[in-house]
This record gives sequence, structure tokens and C-alpha cells, in this order.
Amino acid sequence: MLAQHTRVRPAPAAATAAALAFGLVAATASPASADDPEAQGFGPDNVIVLIGDGMGYDQIDAASLYRDGTSYNQFAVDPDTGEVDREPSEASNVYEEFDVQLSAATYPEGGSYDPEAVWTDFDDVNNGYTDSAAAGTALASGVHTDNGLLGLDPDLLPVRNLTERAQETGRASGVVADVPFSHATPASFVAHNEDRNAYDEIAREMLTEHELDVVMGAGHPHYDEDGQPVDEPAFDYVDEATYESASTGETGFTFVEETEDFADLAETATPPERVFGLAQAAATLQYDRSGPDLDEDGEPIEGSEPYDAEFNENVPSLAEMASGALNVLDNSSDEGMFLMVEGGAIDWAGHDNNINRLIEEQIEFDDAVEEVVDWVESESSWQETLVVVTADHETGYLAGPGAGEEGGWTPLTGEAGELPEHSWHSEDHTNMLVPVYAQGPGASRMQHHAQYEDPVQGAYLEHTDIANTVFDFWGRG
Ligand SMILES: [Zn+2]
Repeated sequence: MLAQHTRVRPAPAAATAAALAFGLVAATASPASADDPEAQGFGPDNVIVLIGDGMGYDQIDAASLYRDGTSYNQFAVDPDTGEVDREPSEASNVYEEFDVQLSAATYPEGGSYDPEAVWTDFDDVNNGYTDSAAAGTALASGVHTDNGLLGLDPDLLPVRNLTERAQETGRASGVVADVPFSHATPASFVAHNEDRNAYDEIAREMLTEHELDVVMGAGHPHYDEDGQPVDEPAFDYVDEATYESASTGETGFTFVEETEDFADLAETATPPERVFGLAQAAATLQYDRSGPDLDEDGEPIEGSEPYDAEFNENVPSLAEMASGALNVLDNSSDEGMFLMVEGGAIDWAGHDNNINRLIEEQIEFDDAVEEVVDWVESESSWQETLVVVTADHETGYLAGPGAGEEGGWTPLTGEAGELPEHSWHSEDHTNMLVPVYAQGPGASRMQHHAQYEDPVQGAYLEHTDIANTVFDFWGRG
């Protein structure tokens, strides 16, 4: 029965009970094949959640159109009649071929998503949206909370997150981001704080108060946005004392900052047990670098294109960081792992309505997903690893040309190598549904949670259901 598992381990008592119950559900609700570990009552050893911060369907398709000239989820909706006219759908990302494809509602505590209102009033999704702290907490802990809160419920009580549960079940755990490691999304998978902007406290908590095996991100005090050393260090995302102790190994992490050392992490047969990887860039690996595509105020210049600005060379890509993290985690525990990988600057591009850099960031994220899938297929298997690709919310209200109150929703269109025809309708987050792609043990359980129906996007769940699916198997502790 465990033939497909390379590891045999006793499941924790709570997880066994929960998993058996779901085995029954799966057996009666859908025909289960004899070699389906989920149907046999076994959940994932490894869970890898990749979050595109601010990544709606149109963010993904903007990049696919630019890279491949194809799109996956484009349509026109007439707000008066509700008529939906779909574009041909062509997968160009590995996750667009995953077994389970759903959407998720992202609203914070007290919010709602109304599938009728959303497709009759173009402005509806500009209200009641979440921030990345509440959304990260929902994705990490399965609990709705108020905007601004990290790892706390609305009564300010700490909620159990997936890295903690991984640790309690003997698994390795880690978070990787291409924005500061102490920023809202990675922080929400580790820390508990009333103030998502309390970076000093959050960084200290992440590096000294938990048993994480991997923390990686940007936020290096000694480098600027172009990856150049600065004269005066800026302790914006980690305080000086914590940085000093973490960068000298005093917090139990091996400190990594050079690109070659990040690359080695992915290759070596004997990686360090715990790694704090701080890329040599101030806030983002690439997004905030200077370049000829930006004016003096950092606004995108009309007529500029993706990759007009040279990439910073002294930082790893998100895919390289993810690859290194997987090798470290895989070697740290025989019980499995939990890893969160965030493409954080998709959101920054959405706030700036910068289509060029949005496309760059989305492609960096897509590459990271591909790297993770390669790892599953070469070093693990779809019998033991669950991969989830999702977003915490959409940012910028990206839509097709001419979209709006009058024209309704229009599809993004374009050719490979050209900027897609598009329009922006916000400089903030929206309350629209975001994609959920899942494959591996537990993915079909996620489908059971998707009990709501949107007239355009189809079946959807609440984003709290993603973590709760993992808790279904791993127990809550
Ligand atoms: Zn944002």
C-alpha cells in the first residue's frame, strides 16, 4: 500500500483519523484508483505552495501572450446580458496542465464575494478587498482575519500555520520570496504580529523564534535596488542586531548571499541543514532596479518594453532560490517538507500599473513553478508531493482593452514578443477570484472544498480552504 512512497513513517494520530475519514469521502464521492494514495487515506509528505502576490488570471495571461502568443483564460462578458464569449484556451504554463484547476475567493474577515454583483457591476471588485497580511494568514493558517494582521485571528490570538504544523510533524519547513523575506506573505507563514510593517520584530521572530530550515528573500541592508553595495546600510527589513547575528551564523542558520552559493545549494549532495539566504538587493531581486524603461519618478515610459533594463546579475532568480531551498529541505528531514515560494513583485508591478515589469515578474514566477515541478518529477513524485499554485489576491485590476463600466470585460490579446492590449482599473488590490492550480495527493480533496460556483470562472473555494486541505491530512495539532 505504500509501494509508491519512498519513505515509510507512522502518521501522527490526528492525521490518521482525519485522513481515514477523507479516504471514505473520496471512495464514495469519486471512483478512486487502487494506487491513489489519497484514496487510501494518505496525504502528501511534501506540500509546496507557490503564491503569485497580486496574480490574477490576466497577470498570467499577459506574460503568456508576451512570451508565447497564447492565453489560457480570456473572455468577454457583457455586463447587461451576462453573456460570456470565450477566447481559445491554450496552456503555456506547466501549472495550466495540473489535474485540479479552481478559483479562490480572497476577501478578509467579514468580507464576501458575490458572483452575481461581480459580473454586473464592473467596479464591484474594487471594494472589500484583502491585503497581503490577511490573505497570507488565510493561505498559511486557513483562518480569515482582518487586514494588517499576520498570523493572528481577529481577536489577536495566534493561529497555527503550515510551517509550524510541518515542524510539529517532523517535517522540514521554509519560505522563499523575491521581495524582503520579512514582507507580508513569507511573514504570514511564520510570524504572529499585529503589525505587518513591524519588520524588525517580524524578521527577529522568523530568524530566532521558530524552527524553520530555510528562509530566503531580498531585503539585504548592505545593497541597493541595483544590487550595488551601499555606504550606509539600511536596516529597513531586519534590524541591525538580528542581521549581525543571523549573518554570522549565531541564529543556527548557515548564511548565504552570493549567487554561486545559492547555486551550490541546489547542486550539493550535502547541503547545510538550515539556510538563511539573503540576496544582495535592497527590496526586490529585479523589480525595483533602475533602467531606461522608467522615468525619474520610476514610472514606466511609454513605448518601453520588458527587459529594456538589464537584470541585476548578483542575485539568484526565484527559481534558483526555490531549487536550493528544495535540496536543503529534502536533506533536512525524512518525514517530508512544507515550502512556500512567493513571486512577490507581481503585486508591486500591479500597484504601479507597469505592464513591462509585470510580465518580467510573472515569467520569473512561472519559471519557479517549472523548477518545482521538475524537482517533483526528478527527486520526488506526484504520489508524495502536493504542489499548489495560487495568489493571495489580484492587484491593479488588469483587463483587456476598452474594458470598463460601459464595455464590460474584454479579453487581453496580443502576439508573442509584443505587449498585450490591456487596461488597468485600480492601483490597489481587488476582490476578484484568483486561480488555484493543484496537483498531487490532496489536490482532489481541494476540489471537494470548491462548493461555490461563479458564472464565469466556475467552481471556486475560499482561500482558507487551501491550508485547511493540508490540515485535513496533517492534523491541526
Ligand atoms: Zn499589494
